[in-house]
Amino acid sequence: MNENSAKKQKSAEFVCIACPLGCRLKVSQTEEGLLVEGNRCKRGESYGRQEFSAPQRVVTSTVRVDGRGCVVCPVKTASPVPKAKVPEVLAAIYGISASVPLKIGQVLAEDIAGTGVKLIVTANMG
Ligand code: SF4
Repeated sequence: MNENSAKKQKSAEFVCIACPLGCRLKVSQTEEGLLVEGNRCKRGESYGRQEFSAPQRVVTSTVRVDGRGCVVCPVKTASPVPKAKVPEVLAAIYGISASVPLKIGQVLAEDIAGTGVKLIVTANMG
């Protein structure tokens, strides 16, 4: 065991999704702070740090359309939400229905599941 590995305390591996290259990242907690390896650029370092310490996800789903039977409208969160809150966000989305017409970018909820993030429509429906 070399001195460098002795200082590593906890680590995890991720695939960077910040661009299509998909670099394999290894993030380690060291005595000096987080160490990101395997990234080819600064975006990968930022992604690795975020994913290790507070992972976030954009949530995509659908909402029911009023008066249209089984018809649904696709929606997503306007920005990533904490990964741990995804089940709550989905539960809140399942409770929403919307009336046509619906336009891309239309806000259906200002603060979905208390995340502070908007829920927006991702398809035009008339
Ligand atoms: S580290 Fe940089 S080059 Fe590699 S996948 Fe992430 S964004 Fe792309």
